[in-house]
Amino acid sequence: MNVLVINCGSSSLKYQLINADNEEVLAKGLCERIGIDGGMHTYQPKGADKIKTDVDMPTHTKAVSLVLEALTDAKSGVIKSLGEIDAVGHRIVHGGEKFSKSVVIDDEVITAIEECSSLAPLHNPANLIGVNSCRELMPNVPMVAVFDTAFHQTMPKKAYLYGIPYEYYRKYKVRRYGFHGTSHEYVANRTAEFLGKDIKDMKIIVCHLGNGASVSAVCHGKCVDTSMGLTPLEGLIMGTRSGDIDPAIIGFIAEKEGLSISEMETVLNKKSGVLGLSDGISSDFRDLGQAADSGNEAAKTALDTYAYRVAKYIGAYAAAMNGVDAITFTAGVGENNISARVQISEYLTYLGTQIDIQKNDMRGEEAVISKDGSKVQLLVIPTDEEMSIARQTVALVGR
Ligand code: AMP
Repeated sequence: MNVLVINCGSSSLKYQLINADNEEVLAKGLCERIGIDGGMHTYQPKGADKIKTDVDMPTHTKAVSLVLEALTDAKSGVIKSLGEIDAVGHRIVHGGEKFSKSVVIDDEVITAIEECSSLAPLHNPANLIGVNSCRELMPNVPMVAVFDTAFHQTMPKKAYLYGIPYEYYRKYKVRRYGFHGTSHEYVANRTAEFLGKDIKDMKIIVCHLGNGASVSAVCHGKCVDTSMGLTPLEGLIMGTRSGDIDPAIIGFIAEKEGLSISEMETVLNKKSGVLGLSDGISSDFRDLGQAADSGNEAAKTALDTYAYRVAKYIGAYAAAMNGVDAITFTAGVGENNISARVQISEYLTYLGTQIDIQKNDMRGEEAVISKDGSKVQLLVIPTDEEMSIARQTVALVGR
């Protein structure tokens, strides 16, 4: 059974075609600058080089049709006809309180996703455009919505409510939702599998450290807390996002600098995080690592502050679960940044864990990186959100 996994943004569309029977990625690609001049389609069939084509894509439907043409192309395609796409799995950012698991898409589901759009105005409408374009071009293929927020819906009220007037929750559903749920769920399950344990017997902290970053507390297989909130701005210091700040800072800076609320949101989303902290050096941890190694104090401060915030969340979630058995690093920084893992782990010895410098000296592999005999195990598990979406799609519409 072949599943096309679609992650559609406002001007881009990422995709993978996965043979779900053997979990082989048959092809993957990216359409960029949809609706803008200078469009580009990058397509990579399995085992072959990337094919880059400059092509304008005025609409998402045009982008999806280019993807389908590439997949079925006589020379570089990986399937003979569209009939070989058995299902489509769509990443949907916000499922609000309506969706606590993946669902088969029908008109009612589309309306419900639209209703969640005020909670994610930049993401949900774009995700839905992808859904509608695919439905237009493949009307008889079953489609599944997989939500970034769904895994976190098991959080108890005490974890998801903010200390603000309850009427804002009642009226507007202002609460913590959390994101990266597909990744947290996949990585928590792989952590238990990798250790040969039942996830129902474990307390796991997953650190998804990418350009966007979040931590979650997974107690006996269920998410009980996570660091992102109503939006993906809360929690850790990220590439360009501030994470937690004193909310009064917003009014203070807005007044000093003459900025509107939406301009302040741009500052907090796009100009903050390690980019802002390093005084503009970079949002990329590789650049920051190099700058710090060559003695740049601002880069060093940004990396220190970043690691300290991650360690504080780990401490908070060990308290939330009254213990922790495993702490797992994933995503770009978590999988690849050897020194960030060391820096974070140095704060964790009180938990009875010690990083093993030799085991930690690797990138992008599943591994235990704590010393033998550690009470709490440290792991690296590369995340695979597309595979998780494909699996969830098969679970709902599989033959
Ligand atoms: P993601 O959003 O998961 O793709 O993660 C992107 C982040 O991972 C960027 O800040 C990269 O600098 C970081 N990253 C990726 N590869 C490496 C690497 N080999 N060493 C250090 N950081 C890396």
